[in-house]
Amino acid sequence: MEIVTPKVELVDIVSLEPEDINMLIDINILKLYYGYRRCYSGDTENFTKKFHSPMTADERREVEDFIRKMRKSPHESPLEHVTMTWHVYNMDRSISHQWVRHRIAAHSQASQRYVKYDNLEVTVPDSIRNNKNLFEAYKDYMNNAENMYRGLIELGVPAEDARSILPNATATHIVTTMNLREMIHFFNERCCYRAQKGIRDIAYEMLDICNQMYPCVFENVGPKCKALHYCPELKPCEEKPFKH
Ligand SMILES: Cc1cc2nc3c(=O)[nH]c(=O)nc-3n(C[C@H](O)[C@H](O)[C@H](O)COP(=O)(O)OP(=O)(O)OC[C@H]3O[C@@H](n4cnc5c(N)ncnc54)[C@H](O)[C@@H]3O)c2cc1C
Repeated sequence: MEIVTPKVELVDIVSLEPEDINMLIDINILKLYYGYRRCYSGDTENFTKKFHSPMTADERREVEDFIRKMRKSPHESPLEHVTMTWHVYNMDRSISHQWVRHRIAAHSQASQRYVKYDNLEVTVPDSIRNNKNLFEAYKDYMNNAENMYRGLIELGVPAEDARSILPNATATHIVTTMNLREMIHFFNERCCYRAQKGIRDIAYEMLDICNQMYPCVFENVGPKCKALHYCPELKPCEEKPFKH
């Protein structure tokens, strides 16, 4: 049994050199730019040839400023032209259950039917890790679960049935693709204080990457109260005034 922690990777850039990442960012913000521009322009000739990657600093500023302006409006469908593909390793299975509720996304998750665990990897919530006695008891419980799982497999029980003994803390791995409109919605919900800490931590790590790559889209994104300037939750945190 091994204790593991979640790790976030953006598949889009994982094998790219820095200059290629820059080109990818150019291409994606130009998709947004032309998506928005198309709605308000009568031009038919050379419409998508105004800019070339790599863009100059002035060109990048022009494109980003236009996107920033558009982001102030409720016109959100052009954001669907760009997607991001994430690989999250070592996600608690109770978190992955919440994760895949986001339907405007494609999810591919490690199968517990086809992948047997030789060494059970489990996550641990901070509230348990921070208490020495609780943490020791937690590890004992996980070791027992692993032994029981292995015993069932050795007795010839199929993995799809033996997994019923496994705890929610069992680490899973998932590849998820979302378009930027759904990413914003995901952050609105999952950066919220009301979301479980495990998913909130992952969401903030992803938001940080989004902000580094596409600040003109994500710089004002966070829990939904950030844009609303009030908390719409039934049990608000102390960050924003409560309004119903
Ligand atoms: C703090 C918190 C607590 C939660 N508690 C619970 C709980 O106790 N029990 C529970 O079952 N779930 C719970 N959820 C899950 C929640 O109900 C959603 O299933 C989840 O957040 C996915 O978001 P979404 O429905 O907006 O879907 P997404 O798939 O992310 O869809 C994005 C948006 O697209 C639109 N959309 C998508 N599909 C449809 C559709 N079929 N029809 C119409 N519009 C659609 C909606 O506007 C939706 O908001 C909780 C979520 C959070 C953040």
